[in-house]
Amino acid sequence: MHTLKIEHLDVSINDKKILKDFNLTINSGEIHAIMGPNGIGKSTLTKVIMGSSDYKVEKGKITYDNKDILSLKTDERARMGLFLAMQSPSEIEGVSNADFLKTAVSSKEDNFKLLPFIKELEANYNNLNMDKQMIHRSLNVGYSGGEKKKNEIIQLKMLKPSFIMLDEIDSGLDVDSLKLVGEQIMDYYKKNDSAILLITHYQRLLDYIKPDYVHIISEGTVIKSGDSTLVQLIEEKGYDYFKDGTNE
Ligand code: ADP
Ligand code: MG
Repeated sequence: MHTLKIEHLDVSINDKKILKDFNLTINSGEIHAIMGPNGIGKSTLTKVIMGSSDYKVEKGKITYDNKDILSLKTDERARMGLFLAMQSPSEIEGVSNADFLKTAVSSKEDNFKLLPFIKELEANYNNLNMDKQMIHRSLNVGYSGGEKKKNEIIQLKMLKPSFIMLDEIDSGLDVDSLKLVGEQIMDYYKKNDSAILLITHYQRLLDYIKPDYVHIISEGTVIKSGDSTLVQLIEEKGYDYFKDGTNE
C-alpha cells in the first residue's frame, strides 16, 4: 500500500502563482481524475510531483509513503515508483527507445537481464499494435501524436511504477487505440499495487479507466470533489457552474 500526499502546496512559475493551498491524498487502489479548464495548472501539478525544475514550490509538502519527496531529484522519485505519462512527450534524437528503456530499467532493477527485457519490450509493442521496429528508432522522433502517447504506456509497462500520472493520455489517440491504451492501463493497474492520477477533458477515456474520485480545480486549488457522477455534471453545466463553490 502506497500513499501520495500533497499538503498546502503553493507553486509558481516566473512569479505567477499557479497552485494555491492545493491538497490531495491518493492511496494505491484508487483512481483519481483531475478536471478543469485549460491553463489552470493540471500539467503543472504532475510536473511538480515529478520534480521539474521549471516550477518553484513556494510552500507546502509532498510525501510518498511518508517520505518528503520535494528534496529528491526526478530520477530518485522515479525509482520510488512515481511515473508521468506526459501531455507532450519530448523527442530525443540519437537515443533509441531500446537504449532509453534499457538504461532506465537496469538502473531500477538489481537483477536486470537483457533477453527477458527485450522479450517483454517486444510483447508490449505488440500489445499496443505498434511495429516492433520502432524499438530502434530515436525516442519519439517523427512519431505521430498517438504513437507518442502509446510510447508513454510502453514506458509505464516497462518501468512498473506504483504511482501513475496520465496527463491527457487520450489526446491524439484514435478510438481503437484509446480502447487498447485504456485496457492496457487497467490491466496493469489491477495486477499491481498502484494508484492512478489522470487528467482528461473527455468522458470516453473514463469509460475504460473509471475514476473513484473526481476533483475539479479552479484558481489553483480543488474546488469540488466527488465520485464519477461529477463528470456528467461537468459535461452538462461546464466548469463555471462550480466556481462559487455552492453548487452540488
Ligand atoms: P493545464 O491545466 O492546461 O495543464 P498548465 O499546468 O500547463 O495548465 O499551465 C498552467 C499555467 O502556467 C498556464 O497559464 C501556463 O501558460 C503557465 N505555464 C506553464 N509552464 C510555463 C512556463 N514554462 N513558462 C511560463 N508559463 C508557464
Ligand atoms: Mg495540461
